[in-house]
Amino acid sequence: MNPIVYAIPVFFALIGLELFVAYRRRVRAYDFADAVCSIGLGAMSQVSGIFSKLVVLAIYVAVHEHLRLFSLPADSVAVWLSGLLLYDFLYYWHHRLGHEVGVLWAAHVVHHQSEEFNLSTALRQTSSGFLLGWLFYLPMAVLGFPPLVFVAVGLIDLLYQYWIHTEQIGRLGWFDRVFASPSNHRVHHGVNDRYLDKNYGGILILWDRLFGTFIDEDADEPVIYGTRAPLRRYDPVWSNLEVYAALARDAWNTRRWRDKLALWWKPPGWRPADVAAADPRPAFDPHTRPRYAPAVARGVQLHVAVQFALLMLIGADCLARAEQLPLAWGLGYVAWAMLSLVALCAWLEGRRRAPALDLLRLGAALTMLLLGGGWFGAAWGLPVLAAIALLLVISIAAAVVLALRRPRPAGATPA
Ligand SMILES: [Zn+2]
Ligand SMILES: [Zn+2]
Repeated sequence: MNPIVYAIPVFFALIGLELFVAYRRRVRAYDFADAVCSIGLGAMSQVSGIFSKLVVLAIYVAVHEHLRLFSLPADSVAVWLSGLLLYDFLYYWHHRLGHEVGVLWAAHVVHHQSEEFNLSTALRQTSSGFLLGWLFYLPMAVLGFPPLVFVAVGLIDLLYQYWIHTEQIGRLGWFDRVFASPSNHRVHHGVNDRYLDKNYGGILILWDRLFGTFIDEDADEPVIYGTRAPLRRYDPVWSNLEVYAALARDAWNTRRWRDKLALWWKPPGWRPADVAAADPRPAFDPHTRPRYAPAVARGVQLHVAVQFALLMLIGADCLARAEQLPLAWGLGYVAWAMLSLVALCAWLEGRRRAPALDLLRLGAALTMLLLGGGWFGAAWGLPVLAAIALLLVISIAAAVVLALRRPRPAGATPA
């Protein structure tokens, strides 16, 4: 069973606590659409990770099996502690190069696209990190850390970072100079000149102090969150692809072969001189950047909120069961969950195609139920399936009503 499934209630309980604290302090902590998008990207990363993680683990196990120098025991406290320390050190370099190398930034950018900073931002994770991320942790396999230790300390390192994504916890004194903390991680998410590309540490911020990338939060300079090439979309697929697409476009357009290859490992934002001249990008100023916040009608917000809550339950079920399902059912379930998220984010973007996407995924699920397919291979009884069918019918009716009530000023809404 995926251990993240057990963490999901804790994630949501802490988001509730953060909202409550912010409400008591009369400060704004969340934007509805941004939070839906961030949490959705986290769910997408986990659900797509069902299959991609197996590949990463298979590589680790193979290297551990054939190339390890030592055989470290999995029942030794020293092995676990040194494993966590080594993982955190390797994470520092993985994370740092994620900001300094174009193709690695293409994966990591997802975590930084939000212009808000709250616990939902922590959940905003890439779905393509598995492509190159595994490389960074192979030293652990070569040194002989058992796969179980590798997986567990990786999870500890990731889960630790959840609580440091909040504005509701201020400075923590000495703690901010030893461990990753809300204060020094706010800095990490900043696009202000003085904050850019600092404070990479996962658990220990000592690595940053050791390698010269640490900077303290300055009370006189509030952090401005996001990226220097703002995403300005909610679509989860495009969130994951935007930087790969920009790199591929520049690689296609530039003339010299050296540049076609170099831009993948040059720092983010680097562009060959010929494409930069032909297609210049405006200079970035964090203080004048307009926040991305398309207007969302009340009814649409309510529909998305209800459907998103249901989708979170469905996502947890998908995470819990997909590995045990026959491959076709597992892949089908993952694809349906992702289509659902794309449809909900299309509503939030005000896309004309949103109702069609929504009706497509709801209709597909209802057809599957009515044709006797059950709910993606679950062994649930008739009462549960009937309740799901009823929910689907109500959801379809809601989507149709919203589609009919949408204002359609000519040419004002994108396709
Ligand atoms: Zn980062
Ligand atoms: Zn972060």
